Amino acid sequence: MSKPKRLVRVAVPVPLRRQFDYSYTQSQSPVLGGRLLVPFGRQEVISYVVDFPKKTSLSPEQIKPIKAVIDDKPLCDPHLFKLIQWAASYYQHPIGEVFNACLPSLLTKGTAAQLTPEYYWQLTEAGQLAVPATNAVKQQKILQLAKAHQGKINAQLLQKNSFTASDLKKLASKGWFEQLQLSAQNTPLTGNLVNPTELEPNKEQHQALAQIYAKQDSFQPFLLDGVTSSGKTEVYLRAIAQQLERQKQVLVLVPEIGLTPQTLSRFETRFNCPIAMLHSGMTDKQRLNQWLKTKQGLTSIVIGTRSALFTPFKNLGLIIIDEEHDLSFKQQQGFRYSARDLALFRAQQLDIPIVLGSATPSMESQFNVEQGKFKRLSLTRRAANAQAPHSKIFDVRQRPLNQGISQPLKEHIETHLAKGQQCLIFLNRRGFAPSMLCHDCGWLAECNRCDRNMTLHQQLKRLHCHHCDRQIFIPKSCPNCQSEQLLPIGLGTERLEEALKSLFPDKQIVRVDRDSTRRKDAMHTIIDEINQGKADIIVGTQMLAKGHHFPNLTLVAVIDIDGCLFSADYRATERTAQLLTQVAGRAGRGQAKGEIIIQSHHPDHPLLVNLFTQNYQELSKQMLAERKTAQLPPYSAQVLIRAQANQLEQPMAFLQDAANVFKQYSQLEVYGPYPAPMVKRAGKMRVQLLLQAANKKQLQQVLNASLEVIETLPMAKKVRWSIDVDPQEVF
Ligand code: ADP
Ligand code: ZN
Ligand code: ZN
Repeated sequence: MSKPKRLVRVAVPVPLRRQFDYSYTQSQSPVLGGRLLVPFGRQEVISYVVDFPKKTSLSPEQIKPIKAVIDDKPLCDPHLFKLIQWAASYYQHPIGEVFNACLPSLLTKGTAAQLTPEYYWQLTEAGQLAVPATNAVKQQKILQLAKAHQGKINAQLLQKNSFTASDLKKLASKGWFEQLQLSAQNTPLTGNLVNPTELEPNKEQHQALAQIYAKQDSFQPFLLDGVTSSGKTEVYLRAIAQQLERQKQVLVLVPEIGLTPQTLSRFETRFNCPIAMLHSGMTDKQRLNQWLKTKQGLTSIVIGTRSALFTPFKNLGLIIIDEEHDLSFKQQQGFRYSARDLALFRAQQLDIPIVLGSATPSMESQFNVEQGKFKRLSLTRRAANAQAPHSKIFDVRQRPLNQGISQPLKEHIETHLAKGQQCLIFLNRRGFAPSMLCHDCGWLAECNRCDRNMTLHQQLKRLHCHHCDRQIFIPKSCPNCQSEQLLPIGLGTERLEEALKSLFPDKQIVRVDRDSTRRKDAMHTIIDEINQGKADIIVGTQMLAKGHHFPNLTLVAVIDIDGCLFSADYRATERTAQLLTQVAGRAGRGQAKGEIIIQSHHPDHPLLVNLFTQNYQELSKQMLAERKTAQLPPYSAQVLIRAQANQLEQPMAFLQDAANVFKQYSQLEVYGPYPAPMVKRAGKMRVQLLLQAANKKQLQQVLNASLEVIETLPMAKKVRWSIDVDPQEVF
């Protein structure tokens, strides 16, 4: 009998819901949570150690030896490791792919988990006593800067104050500074981390903070439910300060488009500690470095979007999720996780507090308050004496509209402009027009790969499908009848901008949407312009709905929301109410009172009426009650199974077979299969199957028991299919 082998179980990044066993030799020492190179099929792939099993179902000759050990230490801490495993099982996603989605991309490609050395400048004793010549202004300033930061100047601080490394080198040659390498033993993380502020918390902020402080050491989710501009960020900053003073690290998650320059600079002015900003503009190397630094405790605050949740920390003390209702916290493809829900799991594991803030809390979080799992902290008033804005609904039925703008709205815009104030005209549709029509034969510019029209972009001279990204030049004549009478139909932000320019020829008009902010730093420049008063009228999409603070902006006009009022998706009401509340929240944040105008052909629609005669909080109570009556999430749990192929019959057949499997479980309601709301997208025909159970646990039990069967269905290999646990969008 051969000697039992040393076995290691790994997660391989392939779309299979299972793990694989290999053997290793005495001289190799793989570690749990470390990477290995293993043979897989005809390739060698990077995989992740998840276990050291005593037994395997493989026969001795089936067991292949590993190729190499990459890490001699685990990549992430045991808590994060457990989170990744739990997430793979909860979202029913292949675990190897989950590892790949959670780790910095360089690590998934085999790069060593080693920090590129980083240096900082330390004021020496001689530097402390140094007295520069009176005309050496720069030297004086650098010494002052160092003294204000415990004698330490890092690259970030240097740049922020417009000094260069060569400035410091000169002072180092005088013996005033020495250069030290950043390391866990040698960290600039000491002394005064928090700069004083003149803002005194108001009564509500004070009460909220008292509750957060009291739970500094234990798991407690808080829902910071505060109207726009009520000082939520100020509450975050103080809660963070408390943890920093206890030498803890803090994770702040923000929505994809919520990372505003203003928010960042508020963090930077308040805290004297290394802040890791994870954003899409970073190189892979920068991302890996921030990841490693945070793991070693060399950064104090991590601010990032969804995926920043998977950063390893040495000593995490608090998680904050700003705009917790935002859809971007849910990954919509591949590994479809909710960063908000996983953050709760992480906080619970670590036994630390977590603060979810929003002016428009999600139904899920309100439900959790109702269940006693979350504590609600309310901020009901605007903080800086700003008054609540006044809102009106304009009935535009039978009124002439000039490119979407009614005469009364035009007059209101004039009134605000005459006082030197700014106006925001909100339209959530970029491009010039949603489509193009032939006046002679009725031909419509439709995407041939999707069930949707192509958007007309006049400036780019293109027709663009926003669903599959197909782009073509605008035809000179109709492809059907050769007529040159091609007309734009409908209104997009580009066209609205043009219309406003002709209505207000002597005013400055800026447009903020994905197209106008595509260039690097463009968003930054536009925001600066608005703040400097170089813009009178701002045309914007939802990019501008959140987070931004323009004190001189007093009028917000929503010119076409009717399309959002009627939708088959039960979540649409919640989304529209959130969007409108957030957009409205941009008005009147400074001293002058704000005004909100909603143009609608359905001025009596209950959503509009309730939202503006009551408020989001009242409306959300009603929405929650409706969900309860209908037994919809969060009062039940759902899973959406999507399948697609070139022909509709294939995904239909697959999901029909799957439905038959699921129907054997009495705790499950099975709806479908039915064609997706947008059946054809990017050339594929899409079908969905919806499963619903009384709660998440029951649903998980069924999925765990049945997915193996589903995977082996004959049609499973003929279509592309995916599982979406707790789906947020049905499209
Ligand atoms: P939110 O995050 O809820 O939108 P912010 O924290 O951005 O609100 O606060 C809105 C404005 O009110 C900011 O200009 C902020 O400086 C100011 N502010 C916040 N808290 C206070 C306070 N306690 N006293 C005075 N002004 C405050
Ligand atoms: Zn035609
Ligand atoms: Zn398309």
